[in-house]
Amino acid sequence: MSMVPLRHQLWINGQNVAGQGAAFQSRNPADGTAVFDGRAADANQVSLAVAAAASAQPLWEQTTLEQRADIVRRFAERVTAQSDELAQLISRETGKLPTDAAGEVKAVIAKAEITIQAHLERRAGRDLEVPQGTAQTRYRPLGPVIVLGPYNFPAHLPGGHIIPALLAGNTVVFKPSELTPAVGRWLVDRWTQAGLPPGALNLVQGDRQVASWLIDDPRIGGVFFTGGYAAGQSIHQQLAGRPEVLLALEMGGNNPLVVTRPEESSATDPTAAAAQIFASAYASSGQRCTCARRLIVVDDEYGRGVVDALRQRLRNTTYGIATDVPQPDVGPLISPAAVEQLLRVQSSWIKAGGKSLAPLEPIEFASGAWGPTLLRCGLIDATPCGVLADDEWFGPLLQLHYVPDWDQAVGLAAATRFGLAAGLIGGSEAMFERFRREVRAGVINWNRPLTGASSSLPFGGVGHSGNHRPAGAFAVDFCSDPIASLVARSL
Ligand code: NAD
Repeated sequence: MSMVPLRHQLWINGQNVAGQGAAFQSRNPADGTAVFDGRAADANQVSLAVAAAASAQPLWEQTTLEQRADIVRRFAERVTAQSDELAQLISRETGKLPTDAAGEVKAVIAKAEITIQAHLERRAGRDLEVPQGTAQTRYRPLGPVIVLGPYNFPAHLPGGHIIPALLAGNTVVFKPSELTPAVGRWLVDRWTQAGLPPGALNLVQGDRQVASWLIDDPRIGGVFFTGGYAAGQSIHQQLAGRPEVLLALEMGGNNPLVVTRPEESSATDPTAAAAQIFASAYASSGQRCTCARRLIVVDDEYGRGVVDALRQRLRNTTYGIATDVPQPDVGPLISPAAVEQLLRVQSSWIKAGGKSLAPLEPIEFASGAWGPTLLRCGLIDATPCGVLADDEWFGPLLQLHYVPDWDQAVGLAAATRFGLAAGLIGGSEAMFERFRREVRAGVINWNRPLTGASSSLPFGGVGHSGNHRPAGAFAVDFCSDPIASLVARSL
C-alpha cells in the first residue's frame, strides 16, 4: 500500500492512485510550509484518466438533466456544509485573506444554481411546429473534456468550467494549477460525496507537461482553460489541426481604468474614486484577472485630487497574512518568484522614466527560507515613459498615465492587444456609452470596481484575453453541440 496520504493522490475512475510522475509540493505563502506533498501523474496515468472519462461518457450522458442537476446541487450542499474548511484551505494554499477566501467559497456555491438556471434558459431543447412535422433542437455533450485551472481562484474558476461541463453530460479530467493541487483535490472529493459515478470526474496533478499529455489525447472533445496568455496561446498551437476539439480560453488582461471628473453630479469627493481604484488594482494583492493595471487620469484638479487620495489610501494600507487579527487589507502573493518578477518589472519601469508614487517593496515576515511573499502595493507614474510594453503583470503594481483630455483617455484605454476588463470612473452616461463602444473588452464597468464580476453575467475577454468562448453564465453554451432534427411521426 502506498504511503502517500489519500489527499495527495490522483483520483482516476473512482480510485485513489499515487502519482508516478515528478514529486512536487504546494506551499502556504504565509510560512512556506507544504500544503500538498505528492507526485504528478505520469503519461500513462494521464492516459488512464482520459480512458476512464471516455468509458464513463456514454452512461453519464444518458442520465437525465434532473439527475445531473441533483448531483450539482448536492455538491453545492457539501461545499456549504464545509465552507469554512474550504475557505481555510484556499487561504493556506494561495495566501488569500479570510474575507477574500470566504468570498470565493460563496461564488463556488452560487455557481451551482446559476449554472442550472443558465443551462435551462440557454440549452434546453426546443420543438417548433413546422409544416409536416416538428423542428427539434437538441444538444449533445462534447465527450470527455479537460479542465485546466489557474491558481488565483483555485476553486471558483475550475468550478465555472466543471459544473456546466458535467451538467451538459460531459465527463471531465481536471488538472488544477500545480500551485493549488490541494484545493483541486478537495473539490473533487466533494463531487464524489455528491454521488458522481466513477470516471465522470477524474483528477490528475502536475504542471504544463501533464496538461500537454492531456491535450494530445485523441479521445478528448474539449479543453477548457483559465490562465495566462502564454499558456493559452501554447495550447491553441498544440491543438492546431484539430478543429474538432473545442477550445475555450479565459486569459489575462492589461486592464485600463479611466478617471475623469463626474459630469452630472456635484459628488466630486476624490476619496470615493480612490476607494474604487484601490479595490480595482489591489484586490487579492492584484492577483485577479480583472484587476486594473493601467490607471488613466485626465490631468486636471479633480484627477490630481483622486491620485492624491489614492496615495493617502496606500499610506494607510495594512499588510499581513490570513491568520492575522485584525485582518489586514492586503495579503501575500502566491510565491517568492511572483514577488521577484514584479520587483523586476517595477525596476524596468523606473529605468524607463517612471516615477514611484508608492514603492512596491517586500515586507519582512516569517515566510522563512522560502523568501518574501508579502509586497507593499506599488503605484508608478508612468506618464514620462510613454506607452509601456503591453503585458499583464499579475500583482499589486499599478501604472498611472496622466492624459490631457477625455479623447486621449479613451484612446489610451483602447490601446491594448488584450480585452478582458475596462472601467470608467466619473464622466457621464454618454461618455460611458462611448467608452463601452470604443474600448474592446468583455467586462466594462462604470463607477464600480473592475474586480466586481457578477456570476449571472457572461464573463470573458476579446483580443488576447479569450477566443470567443466566454465563461460565467455563458459557459453552458460551449459545453454541448446542437443537433437539428426535422421530425415527422409518419411517412
Ligand atoms: P497559468 O497560465 O500559469 O496556468 C494556468 C493553467 O495552465 C495551470 O493549470 C498550468 O499548469 C497550465 N499551463 C501552463 N502553461 C501551460 C501550457 N503551455 N500548456 C498547457 N497548460 C499550461 O496561469 P496562473 O498563473 O495559474 O493564473 C494567472 C493567470 O490566469 C493570469 O494571467 C490571469 O489573468 C489569468 N486568469 C484569467 C481569468 C479569466 O477568466 N479570464 C481568470 C483568472 C485568471
